[in-house]
Amino acid sequence: MEQNSWHRLGAEELQRMFSVNPQTGLSEEDAVERRKTDGLNELSEGKTVSPFTLLLNQFKDFMVLVLMGATLVSGLLGEYLDAVTIIVIIVLNAVLGFVQEFRAERSLRSLKQLSAPSAKVFRQGKSQTIPAKMLLPGDIVMLESGDRIPADVRWLECSALYAEESALTGESLPVAKHSEPIQAEEVPLGDQRNIGFMGTMVTRGTGKAIVIRTGMDTEMGKIADLIQNTDSQETPLQNRLEQLGKILIYVSLGLTIVVVVAGIMHGQPAAAMFLAGVSLAVAAIPEGLPAIVTIALALGVQRMIKRKAIVRKLPSVETLGCASVICSDKTGTLTQNKMTVTRLWAGGRNLDVTGEGYAPVGQILDKGRPIDLKNDQSLRRLLQVAALCSNAEIQETVSTDNSKRKGKGKSAEGDKIQNETSVWELKGDPTEGALVALSGKMGLTAQTLAVSFTREKEFPFDSERKLMSVIVSQPGGRMICTKGAPDVLLGRCSYMLWDGGVVPCTPTLRQKVLDANEGMASGALRVLGMAYRDMRPNEVVSNEKEAECQLIFIGLAGMIDPPRREVREAISITRKAGIKTVMITGDHGTTAEAIAHQLGILQRGGTVLTGSQISRMSENDLDKVSDNVYVYARVSPEHKLRIVKSLQRHGHVVAMTGDGVNDAPAVKAADIGISMGITGTDVTKEASSLILGDDNFSTIVAAIEEGRNIYENIRKFIRYLLASNVGEILTMFFAMMLGLPLPLVPIQILWVNLVTDGLPAMALGVDQPEKDLMEHKPRGAKENIFARRLGWKIVSRGILIGLCTLIAFWLTLRIAPDSPSQLIRAQSVAFATLVMAQLIHVFDCRSSRSVFHRNPFQNKYLVLAVLSSLILMFVVMYLPVLQPVFKTVPLNFREWCLVLVTAGIPTFVMGAGSVWSGKRKRSRGSNRPMIKSTKFSA
Ligand code: ATP
Repeated sequence: MEQNSWHRLGAEELQRMFSVNPQTGLSEEDAVERRKTDGLNELSEGKTVSPFTLLLNQFKDFMVLVLMGATLVSGLLGEYLDAVTIIVIIVLNAVLGFVQEFRAERSLRSLKQLSAPSAKVFRQGKSQTIPAKMLLPGDIVMLESGDRIPADVRWLECSALYAEESALTGESLPVAKHSEPIQAEEVPLGDQRNIGFMGTMVTRGTGKAIVIRTGMDTEMGKIADLIQNTDSQETPLQNRLEQLGKILIYVSLGLTIVVVVAGIMHGQPAAAMFLAGVSLAVAAIPEGLPAIVTIALALGVQRMIKRKAIVRKLPSVETLGCASVICSDKTGTLTQNKMTVTRLWAGGRNLDVTGEGYAPVGQILDKGRPIDLKNDQSLRRLLQVAALCSNAEIQETVSTDNSKRKGKGKSAEGDKIQNETSVWELKGDPTEGALVALSGKMGLTAQTLAVSFTREKEFPFDSERKLMSVIVSQPGGRMICTKGAPDVLLGRCSYMLWDGGVVPCTPTLRQKVLDANEGMASGALRVLGMAYRDMRPNEVVSNEKEAECQLIFIGLAGMIDPPRREVREAISITRKAGIKTVMITGDHGTTAEAIAHQLGILQRGGTVLTGSQISRMSENDLDKVSDNVYVYARVSPEHKLRIVKSLQRHGHVVAMTGDGVNDAPAVKAADIGISMGITGTDVTKEASSLILGDDNFSTIVAAIEEGRNIYENIRKFIRYLLASNVGEILTMFFAMMLGLPLPLVPIQILWVNLVTDGLPAMALGVDQPEKDLMEHKPRGAKENIFARRLGWKIVSRGILIGLCTLIAFWLTLRIAPDSPSQLIRAQSVAFATLVMAQLIHVFDCRSSRSVFHRNPFQNKYLVLAVLSSLILMFVVMYLPVLQPVFKTVPLNFREWCLVLVTAGIPTFVMGAGSVWSGKRKRSRGSNRPMIKSTKFSA
């Protein structure tokens, strides 16, 4: 078949060419066979970095090159041992850097896999969802509004289907699609209306299609290079830290030069000072910072996945921690989306419905008495319309539970009994499932209805119109069945079924419907209205407007959709965390308000605003009220965008959920766009930065908690790394200024850097959150990373570490200032003090208050990292072969006491200070605000 002539073929030719039956799709054997010749349905990936290149990159770093040069120089000067040791340290550093970056890269790649698209196909007669990359030419796919078309397809059936193809054709408006062959030979892509192209979007309607081209053979494949996603996914924080890193390089280099010059001026040998300077510069520059930030982000994102929150865009992890408003859909996110009709209203009667779940088992009761459908034409019609105008299916699956019989008696079948339990499962929209189950309770099932009715056309539900209609034919003629939001539906009705007859829909009758609707909604029921009309013999209906008019209103169905159990708790957490939760729903105001009350969303003084009120408001009017609105009801997707923008104008960082295709603009405009993993459309998923794997509101709260924790962890290891580096530089700086000998030899400096920078910093990156993490107000979006006194903590601890190390050095050296062996002893003391001070300080970094506020053994990784760093320190001090290399000697008891006391001062003295000042503040009895503000301490 010529590549570009698919549009000319009819459905039968297509089936023949691909040897596939559209009713059953490919068989599994076919699929396996075809896979051998057809590749995966993927566009070729952009360039990826190989592990080898990643390893090589470690040696390309400017500072590493300088160090290698210096090593060469010291080798040439005859310091072979030094040279070899430095090379070993460089290699160890590179391996550490490689492991960090490799892990980061791998986690980012696995994230991509998680949000990979899927496709709904017919295989082996069953509809199933498979990864889009597994599609084969000949597969039969089902697509609906909001889906991204997973391969090039030829439409076999289309129901009011529109596709947005701007990525391919440049046409920004969605184009109508059909399934008829097009005879012309050369047809431009934009006019191939019976073809769906990979990567384009279905914006309305539903359709069935056969896959004709996959992967790089598709039209998108031809331009794949142009659409490769080149987003670097660097977060603003990463960018800012990169800038900071550059500044730190200059500062470290500047200070190093001062140290070297001062040393030479005080009589130190130039060659030794040169090597010490280079080592110091290498140690002082926090080269591991970017990789550790990436790891902290990536591991945090992995933790989020475990909690069912899938991050699509890394920068949103940061923004999550700043979220101050969550705008959440109601149905399915705050509620369970498990609908059951419990009440009906028809012809002025309120009826109760019994039964649970989607099982078509139960009764309809009128004042407690079961209804007989034979004598109730209006109720029969209501149930017919409810079932005919629904696409959901309910299926019974029977599971056999073989359990052992307790006791001694034996049954004829041995000691096992068989319990058959039947479960009714829903396929499709829960609202429609509830209606199908309702009709089934009175014997009106898909099978019984199919005897008299055949569906001809569907005008699918959309959340803008809030209605759905079908045209069905029956022996006596054709009928339009419509269901939807009662207030909207009533506007399309001119008549009503009342007392068994059709009467004009007078204002009094309308009011009765609205009152009944209000009554159900105030009990938190979701209400749908049902209407119909017979069609004239030759009536042609080409769009929903022509169909949904002059209808006869039949009645209402009210269904419960219980709130999710865990959501109440999640909402109270958000409140403590200073985050406002707003419900935005297409549902009726009264229903929404009732559920908002149940969940604790509606605050005292908070208001409910409806979509029609928003429509009448200017942006200014909306801004005046939006900060005080907790429930937006009967909104259309377009309102969501206005709500997001208005809240943003109030300075809020807004997280907004969405599922339908029309929600995408609002989801995109929000600071954190959130889509639904189960019910969400591809379009919204792609616009979002976070996907909820379980569609659950509490998952948003979990993600915010993780987002805050990740940010705090990044602050923790920035504090640790920089304070350590300040300590290292100042030890040398102070010594040179005071005309003392070098407190540390170059190799010791490099070893301190290796031992303390790598593992402990990484372990801080996966630290557990502090208890009150969700009791602070969200941080400001523009907050400086050094805010909340982080900068002060870095400088104060760094100065103390430097001073204490120098004091330990000096106190030891003082015993015999001119003895070379005492100098080595003093340098060993300084080395041990510097390492110990940093390893004690790392526990201090875990708390925003002091080391005394957290259990030091809680973070097992940190304990292990510190232990391994200690071992590395002891190895170079106590292993006789390494002592000459690292110029160390074993210390005696008195020296160890000195080391521990001086190393503990920076952390414990400052910690005691903060406890003391905390107590003083409390004893002054400060009035606590309801939401605690972020705590700081010295
Ligand atoms: P949320 O935005 O919180 O998910 P929602 O699911 O109630 O709320 P929509 O799906 O837009 O919002 O529904 C709006 C209204 O449309 C509902 O209150 C209901 O009356 C009506 N409706 C919902 N589903 C259907 C459907 N399948 N067919 C006809 N009408 C429907």
